[in-house]
Amino acid sequence: MGVPQVEPALTPPSVKPILPKKPNMGSGKSRTKKRDIPEGLWIKCPSCEAMIFDKELDENLKVCSKCSHHFPIGARERIHSLVETCTFQELDADMESVDVLGFKGASTYKSKLDAYRKGTTLKDAVVTGLGKIGPHRVALGVMDFTFLGGSMGSVVGEKLTRLIERGTSNNLPVIIISTSGGARMYEGMFSLMQMAKTSAALAYHAQQRLAYLSILTHPTMAGVMASYATLGDLILAEPKAMIGFAGARVIKDTTQAELPPGFQTSEFLLDHGLIDAIVPRKEMKDQIVKYLDYFSAGKKAGA
Ligand SMILES: [Zn+2]
Repeated sequence: MGVPQVEPALTPPSVKPILPKKPNMGSGKSRTKKRDIPEGLWIKCPSCEAMIFDKELDENLKVCSKCSHHFPIGARERIHSLVETCTFQELDADMESVDVLGFKGASTYKSKLDAYRKGTTLKDAVVTGLGKIGPHRVALGVMDFTFLGGSMGSVVGEKLTRLIERGTSNNLPVIIISTSGGARMYEGMFSLMQMAKTSAALAYHAQQRLAYLSILTHPTMAGVMASYATLGDLILAEPKAMIGFAGARVIKDTTQAELPPGFQTSEFLLDHGLIDAIVPRKEMKDQIVKYLDYFSAGKKAGA
């Protein structure tokens, strides 16, 4: 079979993104002094070490104005930055994950879900809907790393599949913006099955000669990378995003070989032909419009 060695676990990124909100994991004792810092936070850029006022960072789409480091950005903020005002119609907004396996570990899956729903105001790790980008109506799915590491469980897979199918039946291009540690270990095989389901939906979408743009952001790994994230007609990535299948440490331990510098970055993948372009976040909307112009012109000409 195609992908027997998929890690069913959530692969932790080696470069830790800064999470905007860490949910209280339910102990009731985790209130610290840090939580009481008044509004107007200064954030240190991990790349150039400049201190940036958080409002300035928000206004700049979470990109450092000094060195262009791309901080993580939430799904809703990203949708807001791309989609025309009042055109976004969210789909399956109330779909929630269920603990089918009765998973018990250090904490239960159910308690994790509850904590992340409260801490992030999201129901799961992807937001999907129909909207307009420039003049183009699109089916858009945006993942959010703050919800359980953007891991792909049944709900992420189902929401994306329904989105793709909606795109197919409405003759719309599909855009999926990924950020994920991979398949969600709490759902075992059910999470792995989402790889096949989303891929099949994209195959039907492609049969209708409709465009699919996959946009990879930091980090996009494992089962997501091994399914819909790499199936784009066009695969774009944000600068310096960590993108790969197995984690670098696992590969190094398995192959016992030194990995080349810049391994598993957008730039490395562009050099090796695995992605088509690197697009800075602030140029993303204009570039998407250009690509969709191109695809729709081709479709008209080819029809
Ligand atoms: Zn910076």
